[in-house]
Amino acid sequence: EHLANQIAAGEVVERPASVLKELIENAVDAGASRIDVSAEEGGLHMLRVADNGSGIQPDDLLLAFQRHATSKISTGKDLFQIATLGFRGEALPSIAAVAKVKCVSSTDDGGLGQLLEIEGGAVKANRETNAPKGTEMIVKDLFYNTPARLKYMKTIQTELGHLSDIVYRQALARPDIAFTFSHNGNLLLRTPGNGELRQVVAAIYGTSSAKAMIELKDENPDYALHGLTAMPTETRANRNALTFLVNGRYIRSQALMQPVMQAYHTLLPLHRFPLAVLDLRMHPSLVDVNVHPAKLEVRFSKENELRAFVESAVKKAVSSEAYIPS
Ligand code: ADP
Ligand code: MG
Repeated sequence: EHLANQIAAGEVVERPASVLKELIENAVDAGASRIDVSAEEGGLHMLRVADNGSGIQPDDLLLAFQRHATSKISTGKDLFQIATLGFRGEALPSIAAVAKVKCVSSTDDGGLGQLLEIEGGAVKANRETNAPKGTEMIVKDLFYNTPARLKYMKTIQTELGHLSDIVYRQALARPDIAFTFSHNGNLLLRTPGNGELRQVVAAIYGTSSAKAMIELKDENPDYALHGLTAMPTETRANRNALTFLVNGRYIRSQALMQPVMQAYHTLLPLHRFPLAVLDLRMHPSLVDVNVHPAKLEVRFSKENELRAFVESAVKKAVSSEAYIPS
């Protein structure tokens, strides 16, 4: 069991950012309206995610850290048909196998909750404690017991970049959730959580970028696309400025990136990346998420039709704005 956890951990827990992704997804699944994230030393020393979601029942807390105890579906196929982001029940046991984890959780406003401490898979404490409603997860000394893995970590700055990326994407995917993110005590992001995507964009990319963005909205019988998009600029050579959500879930996709680039390049032949946050909705049967273990890559069943739709939607939005490239 312990070894199985360490092996599984190798798949789920590649670096601090993969831990953070799982913890934030759990907070989102728990229905949180605010999620506070903090990290120290690129997350290698400490990662903390606190939410005001449903919390975990005292008797379920240890179970949540046991492998597959919580798996919500058996096949993993058609993940898009279930409403939650998590589905395998593997994240927490994997994280607890390679770090020192402290979790405090409470399911009501009575002020009481449960505290659990696990180090390298071994339970150190499991007792009642005072706690507000919600869940606080603290992950310390990631990979302390797997030095070979620790050696692969890059600089603090690189790991921080990956952490920011995760927080930004989750914040863009859920403008209705108030996020904060701090690193080594410095506040790096605060989103209002009022449902306004443009305000999340402003918090991440700056107010002038947010102002320059235009609304995009298009649909056909198979797909609906909406979001915000802005022209490429001389300075933005970063593909990370393109965020794709499919049915509300952040993904990476060449099949979506290319038609967006294509649409812009016919108008402005700059080899730059536009700033865009695009949310694509479709029937779950048109997308298969099970391509990538970290659930970031997907396969579309009518890819050519989809590409054509995305390109035309972006073209329509951009040309209707009558841009004057500077
Ligand atoms: P999965 O998300 O795939 O179910 P995880 O290992 O990520 O598996 O989490 C195990 C279980 O622990 C979840 O199914 C959920 O019931 C519970 N859980 C984890 N994090 C939270 C949280 N922040 N709030 C409420 N419940 C949580
Ligand atoms: Mg999960």
